[in-house]
Amino acid sequence: MESEVATVDPIDTTTLINDEKQNVKALVCLRCPSKILPELKGQFVDDLDKELHVMHKKQEDAGVKMEKFKQFYVVNDMFDFDNIGFTRSVDNETVKYLICADCEVGPLGWHCISTKKNYVALARVKHV
Ligand code: ZN
Repeated sequence: MESEVATVDPIDTTTLINDEKQNVKALVCLRCPSKILPELKGQFVDDLDKELHVMHKKQEDAGVKMEKFKQFYVVNDMFDFDNIGFTRSVDNETVKYLICADCEVGPLGWHCISTKKNYVALARVKHV
């Protein structure tokens, strides 16, 4: 099966990041009240080109539909998160996907196993 890829429109970040490109708002799950990342723990980047499966609740529901994102917060240390869940490693053990620790919706982004860096898609979280 071929995968379908939809490009996600960029988000206006004027009120979301500061001059150092850090998140000035805390991030929470789109579907439940679970806190994901405190303020100033993410570094905004918009030069990535990454496809993620469309949001789903359980890994088994992951279809072939993908969405493409450029805007992410880079989180260097997984202990900077308030709450985060991980899927089993995929893609030949190079990444794990980030999911909500409470409702397990995801993927919200991914965790690179070799660099230990985490990438959270801006469009996959709520800014509060
Ligand atoms: Zn949630």
